[in-house]
Amino acid sequence: MQITELKPKKVFYYFSELAKIPRGSGNTEKVEQYCLDFAAEHGLKSYRDEYGNVMIFKNGTDGYEQSAPVILQGHLDMVCEKLPNCKKDMEHEGVDIIVDDGFLRADGTTLGGDDGIAAAYIFALLDSDKIPHPPIEALFTIDEETGLRGANALDASKLKGKRLINIDSEEEGVITVSCAGAARVSCSMSVNAEAAEGMSAKNEQPQKKRTVQKHRYGTTIKS
Ligand SMILES: [Zn+2]
Repeated sequence: MQITELKPKKVFYYFSELAKIPRGSGNTEKVEQYCLDFAAEHGLKSYRDEYGNVMIFKNGTDGYEQSAPVILQGHLDMVCEKLPNCKKDMEHEGVDIIVDDGFLRADGTTLGGDDGIAAAYIFALLDSDKIPHPPIEALFTIDEETGLRGANALDASKLKGKRLINIDSEEEGVITVSCAGAARVSCSMSVNAEAAEGMSAKNEQPQKKRTVQKHRYGTTIKS
């Protein structure tokens, strides 16, 4: 089965489009541009703040023009990890999606379901002329995975909504009030790498103790 056969069709169409764009945290310029191009193609107003967070605005549908706007939010960046034998250059290439026995996964890499599915849902709604909705303020933040940096640097001056639905949760079927994540506790330790049976240790030298800087929205590790 192909991803384009999954329903809702538009959601999975946009999910597959996003999968083609390399978008690890700190490498989101292309996907930010994708959002801006999407807005232009659909005649919607957009705004990218100085940090790189993107907003797209859509009026309410018939009868809902005067309703209070709702902010729909997801993050554009993803965690880029791959299997040791995977040749994918995740800095420059998108991921290859596989529909496998009822599950969506990527070939040898992380999928970017977190939080690509949020962006896909939001694009599908922005693209729809059938779903009734109040004015939508779509908010795509960046660098969530590295400590909510985009959200922390957000220029919210263009947003009027007082209600925000964050489409990034931890558990299926569970609604989280407020936000999963943000506060973090960090610690550092010295480690020695040892060869496992049948494998060589990549780093046989004792590692230098690393400096860990703690700040409210994330952690910087300097070696
Ligand atoms: Zn997430």
